[in-house]
Amino acid sequence: MTMARTHNLGFPRIGAKRELKFALESYWKGQSSRDELQAVGAQLRQRHWQDQAGLDLVPVGDFAFYDQVLDMSFTLGNLPERVQGFHGDALDNYFRVARGRSAQSAEDHAHCCGGVAAGEMTKWFDTNYHYIVPEFSADTEFKLDASRLLAQLAQAQALGVQAKPVIIGPVTYLAIGKAKDHSDKLALLHRLLPAYVELLATLAAQGVEWVQIDEPILVTELEPGWATAFDKAYQILNTGKVKLLLAMYFGQLQSNLPLVARLAVQGVHLDAINARAEVAALIDQLPADRVVSLGVINGRNIWKTDLNAVLDWLAPIAGRLGDRLWIAPSCSLLHVPVDLESEQALDAEIRSWLAFARQKLDELSVLASALNHGRAAVQAALDANQAAIATRRASPRVNNPAVKAALASITASLGQRKSPYAARALKQAAVLNLPKFPTTTIGSFPQTAEIRQARSQHKRGELGATGYLTAMRAEIERSVREQEALGLDVLVHGEAERNDMVEYFGEQLDGYAFSQFGWVQSYGSRCVKPPILFGDISRPKAMTVEWIKYAQSLTRKPMKGMLTGPVTILNWSFVRDDQPRSVSCYQLALAIRQEVQDLEKAGVRVIQIDEAALREGLPLRKAQWQAYLDWAVAAFRLTANGVEDDTQIHTHMCYSEFNDIIQAIAAMDADVITIETSRSDMELLDAFEHFQYPNEIGPGVYDIHSPNIPSEAHMVQLMKKAAERVPAERLWVNPDCGLKTRQWQEVIPALTNMVNAARTLRAEL
Ligand code: GLN
Ligand code: ZN
Repeated sequence: MTMARTHNLGFPRIGAKRELKFALESYWKGQSSRDELQAVGAQLRQRHWQDQAGLDLVPVGDFAFYDQVLDMSFTLGNLPERVQGFHGDALDNYFRVARGRSAQSAEDHAHCCGGVAAGEMTKWFDTNYHYIVPEFSADTEFKLDASRLLAQLAQAQALGVQAKPVIIGPVTYLAIGKAKDHSDKLALLHRLLPAYVELLATLAAQGVEWVQIDEPILVTELEPGWATAFDKAYQILNTGKVKLLLAMYFGQLQSNLPLVARLAVQGVHLDAINARAEVAALIDQLPADRVVSLGVINGRNIWKTDLNAVLDWLAPIAGRLGDRLWIAPSCSLLHVPVDLESEQALDAEIRSWLAFARQKLDELSVLASALNHGRAAVQAALDANQAAIATRRASPRVNNPAVKAALASITASLGQRKSPYAARALKQAAVLNLPKFPTTTIGSFPQTAEIRQARSQHKRGELGATGYLTAMRAEIERSVREQEALGLDVLVHGEAERNDMVEYFGEQLDGYAFSQFGWVQSYGSRCVKPPILFGDISRPKAMTVEWIKYAQSLTRKPMKGMLTGPVTILNWSFVRDDQPRSVSCYQLALAIRQEVQDLEKAGVRVIQIDEAALREGLPLRKAQWQAYLDWAVAAFRLTANGVEDDTQIHTHMCYSEFNDIIQAIAAMDADVITIETSRSDMELLDAFEHFQYPNEIGPGVYDIHSPNIPSEAHMVQLMKKAAERVPAERLWVNPDCGLKTRQWQEVIPALTNMVNAARTLRAEL
């Protein structure tokens, strides 16, 4: 009889009702004590361990008050120099790195260590989770402080939890950090490893048998020298005191597979969703005493697993491996919501297709029972699962023949403008009649308390459709009046009616569903609630036209129609696992294309299609970038390019790295692109200059993330730098991004200065 064991790589820590978020925010505001915050943390850990009680091994140390990478930095004693002198509580110092602290803020330690800059944040591999980047320099020293992990371990052991501590491996830890002095990070490895050796010994002394050591960097292309670092590191970590489960997830090992197979560890976890094709080869190459953990439940999506299909595939492997087989979700469940049971308002049929973290662990236990005791032991659960899988597959709500037919008839000409940019620009200039250095904004104006109140009253049914319409129209009118008074050239309606740039469209498209509590941690206390793209996408009726028409009726200046692009909608949703992402993206593109054409018919001359998340969708491996960019660009072109030459298409991307994707950006062929540049001193325009980007650009001159009011002189100076790189006649003047998080009293003086800056530029250049 084979006996497969079950375990989990990590559990969402935010809480089913976002308890951690609220506890953190209350502590930060000074409304609750550190002890109260610690108590919420302890309760959440206990509850989450109870949720995982059926597993053979339960992760410990996956809990963090802000970020598990920042926890690792504290465990390794790798604190940025700027916070090292802090005399206060370690948790407060941790939050100082996480969130930064301004010098003016009232704080006990202002005299010794007042203001500090927050640690830089970046995406955790290809997820929407953001971690605090470890900082290194040639002088970095490490010093173990295992107190956090030991406290969590002691709590778990006191509760009788079968604890498996989880840590980030040394090579990944170095790889995902940043050498502030551009020194060689790998040179730190020999200083780092003793801290790990000591950590493992400390855990062993507490009776730990297995430690999960995460090295997801192994699913990416390793730079020269890093494979050797792996060999060396694991030789040194293999002290025989604890057993190491080396965990990889999010992708395939590819050329790193032989390296993984030879590392001196006692077990290997492979993502059998993304790397199923590599499982057989890995087992073949691993020494016969190694544990093989297979991540057979998708830890990144919200769909039920087809359990019978997994069993058909897994049973022979289980037969071969016997008790060397462990099964688990593919990765930490950090990336999915906690509990489907909370979703009582969700359509019952759609709910029957879904599994959140708790349900995924239930699936895991059914799989283990079937493997260990035969499928008959869990026949009822398997039958229920099969029924759900079958109804989803066959559902007319998922499959819309008209959408499939439309998709099949897409031709390249649909994505092609009638004339090249230069010819279009002349026609657009004749219609729009804009000055040199035209001014515009990115779309949203402040989401005031009144807007939020009207929206929530409307949602609760306290404010009827007419009342809501009147309230939103009043806000639109306000922002149009303000823009006219400011003297902006191309106006926006302000997006008052939008809760969120993706959800707003998802709610009006067929094929989308929404959870109430499906929150996923994005960073710190911030969560997102991605909409669920479950079926073929279609647009029953126009989504934005009436609002934009109303806004245009209030002014003689051109009013921009404002849409979210298909790639961004896709990348910020939970998407289908039964068709390629590209297919879902093309379906979204066809729906948004109809909206673009309806706006044009309604007389809207300028249409902006935001692609804020285009870069985020880049695959982990560079070798796969081009394939992604090909369909992403094609989807954008399909959306945007069915318009007449004299309709001006804008796109917007709020980030600042274009060097490696500039060709794709140019291929989108938007007439105007607005980007974030104010903080990079226009340096990122180098990419556009070198590529000789042919169309118009609005490099942001106003950092909207900050409450500071940019001066006219500063913006003039930035634009002059821009004009050294891009011909002045193709430059626009605009902020970095939308203004929804700002206050009107900040926006008015900032935009006044921006409009004056444009006037100065017109006179001087
Ligand atoms: N049009 C959106 C806004 O102004 C764009 C937001 C974004 O790029 N993230 O809010
Ligand atoms: Zn933006």
